[in-house]
Amino acid sequence: MSTLNDLLAGAGILLADGATGTQLQKAGLKPGDSPERWNLENPEAIRALHRSYLEAGANIVLTNTFGGTRFRLARHGLEGQVRTINETAARLARETAGETALVFGDIGPSGELLKPLGKLAYEEAVEGFAEQAEGLLSGGVDAILIETMSDINEAKAAIEGVRRINSGIPLLVTFSFDTHGRTMMGIKPEKAAREIWALGVTAIGANCGRTLSETLTAIEQMRAAVPEAVLMAKPNAGLPHTSGGDMVYDVTPAVMAEYAQKFAAQQVKIFGGCCGSGPEHIRAVAKALRQHADS
Ligand SMILES: [Zn+2]
Repeated sequence: MSTLNDLLAGAGILLADGATGTQLQKAGLKPGDSPERWNLENPEAIRALHRSYLEAGANIVLTNTFGGTRFRLARHGLEGQVRTINETAARLARETAGETALVFGDIGPSGELLKPLGKLAYEEAVEGFAEQAEGLLSGGVDAILIETMSDINEAKAAIEGVRRINSGIPLLVTFSFDTHGRTMMGIKPEKAAREIWALGVTAIGANCGRTLSETLTAIEQMRAAVPEAVLMAKPNAGLPHTSGGDMVYDVTPAVMAEYAQKFAAQQVKIFGGCCGSGPEHIRAVAKALRQHADS
């Protein structure tokens, strides 16, 4: 199939998948359990998740490796299996997608604060991200997505870690602007866009966050700050609330689809959903974006 760079050079929008974590919980993963463990112990659930998004029209699936660094896996006693877990996750996505869709190796935040605010040294972060990237790349991913970032230095450590293993792999970096229009670490969209785009990445953008409209605002600010940037958005389906013991997300597929067109108007090139979005959201977005392209 075509490479990511070829596809990005074409007209139209690439459709990424929806949430992983919240969908695995629907499939029986207990809150607090490691989603990454399921790559080894429940691979059929991971294949089924990828298949559901591909059938909904996704051109891109993410590996189930959001918490796949040694830092996060250590919370579950899995820090000795970084390579196996990431390689297995990449293989599961690759096998399911075949040559019909792209596989993005997913890298989430370490969950630690970098020095001097926290205990994690920059170089240690780079090594941890490199270790994860090595597993993902050996499992056959097409690109690496560094997502839900709050700290610019941590994003830079992740970029450096990936490039230490493969300097040519396409890299996409998205931040979560969930705190009054900034990341939890106080970073504005404009600053994130300028600093990370300058590093020669393939795309920058926003994922997760609070509401669709706040994520759209962040994307508009990134677009204004770096007009030439390739942008990616993967907003969540609103903020969850509990209803009868279940976590409920209020954004319907129809609302997500309506917003997808607003993101398209900002020339976003890759769009998908984050927490709370499922295959029905992606199906509705695929339909809306086809109509957008035809009009
Ligand atoms: Zn999310």
